[in-house]
Amino acid sequence: MSIVSVTSVQLSQLAGIAKKSLPNESCAFLLGKNSSSESLVLDVMPMRNAESSPVSFSISPEELLKAYNVAEEMGHDVIGIFHSHPGRPTPSSTDIRFMELNPVVWVIYSTTENEFKAFINDVQVTEVATSSDSYSRWANYFSSRVLGLINL
Ligand SMILES: [Zn+2]
Repeated sequence: MSIVSVTSVQLSQLAGIAKKSLPNESCAFLLGKNSSSESLVLDVMPMRNAESSPVSFSISPEELLKAYNVAEEMGHDVIGIFHSHPGRPTPSSTDIRFMELNPVVWVIYSTTENEFKAFINDVQVTEVATSSDSYSRWANYFSSRVLGLINL
């Protein structure tokens, strides 16, 4: 799971969700399919930030359950977690803790810098790049950017 494919329409949708939630953080699920080499985003499901906070987000257990049920009905998996920062698009220490529990693609959008970054806790936490093709591919840098997480 080293590449995330996402459409530019989906990216605009995510940016819209983030801007609508200001000054608070927003969150959404990325639904789609995982293969051994790729996470393919097929749908974006906006979620409610139960904390209504500019520095954190959480999703209520009821909403989580509902989201997983809807995804299952659609024949999709929850392949990624999106949230926005009114600041730098880098994972906070809380994000890092939750990335460990949810080893899917984490996409963070900065409303101040208008920038997407994606991280994966696969073998290690690596940053994923974005491009703006009609069907963008976020190629994994496999950079040495290790955020102190261990292999799962
Ligand atoms: Zn965060």
